[in-house]
Amino acid sequence: MTIWNLGSINADLVYDVPHLPGPGETLAASGMSRGLGGKGANMSVAAARAGGRVAHVGAVGADGQWMVQRLLEYGVDTRFIGEVDAVSGHAIIAVDTSGENLIIIHGGANRAISMDLVGRALAQAEAGDLFVTQNETNAQAEAARMARDLGLRVAYAAAPFDRDEVQAVLPLLDLLVLNEVEAQQLEAATGLAPDALPVADVIVTLGARGCRWYGAEGARDFPAFKVTPVDTTGAGDTFTGYVIAGIDRGLPMPQAIAQAMRAAAIMVTRHGTADVIPDLKDVQEAQF
Ligand code: ATP
Repeated sequence: MTIWNLGSINADLVYDVPHLPGPGETLAASGMSRGLGGKGANMSVAAARAGGRVAHVGAVGADGQWMVQRLLEYGVDTRFIGEVDAVSGHAIIAVDTSGENLIIIHGGANRAISMDLVGRALAQAEAGDLFVTQNETNAQAEAARMARDLGLRVAYAAAPFDRDEVQAVLPLLDLLVLNEVEAQQLEAATGLAPDALPVADVIVTLGARGCRWYGAEGARDFPAFKVTPVDTTGAGDTFTGYVIAGIDRGLPMPQAIAQAMRAAAIMVTRHGTADVIPDLKDVQEAQF
């Protein structure tokens, strides 16, 4: 089956600085690197590296074709990534010598996805396909509705948390993935704890403590694998991409979650985002 992921594509522009700049300060960076990021792209890469057939739906500007190329190299179908008249989404990340960071995100092209493009993509979908999205584009709620109307199973990571978006998408979902903070924000917004949400499967990720799955038979805890983290960026996206690929492959939820936790545990031992997401072989061979 195909996993249709409507999501953001960002350039992560990382600058090494002696300290984080204060107001009015100009700083020279001692180093710079450019990588592929954005929650959407991370999830597409994770699901593809997990062995899924993934079609990414999204947009970049003329400056973003290198990111489309990189997604293609990771095995993602990029035919439904449009080029729009806007700067590509990007994150400017300053990291000081102690590892503390400062991040500015600009949505750019991610906020200019047309429903016409989404419609053309989902017109290719088949029964049994999965639709997945997150909150970094202009189109997730409308696209989730379209996917639902077409009979696709719909999965959603409620990140970054946006009260209106989450409430619009909630009635359309088969699977919801939240981190602990997002679960608290959702409960504050709706009055509903994860076990009371109108969604068949809800997973709350708990960082180094693992995750909790709320399914038809109640709640079940999964402790995390023990690793020494060096950079937790992208752990959540890797987890979600792997869970979705597992579900798509027909794995029972506990197995899909276990594999996703192995992938996320490897991820926190690596610096970087989409470019360092482990593949299925790495995940299966990892010794914890
Ligand atoms: P991020 O925003 O950093 O990508 P998140 O807040 O969305 O992450 P987390 O709950 O921090 O998501 O992590 C997702 C999953 O990654 C966890 O459920 C766990 O399986 C794994 N994980 C995260 N941190 C660790 C850790 N320190 N050790 C082992 N596994 C971890």
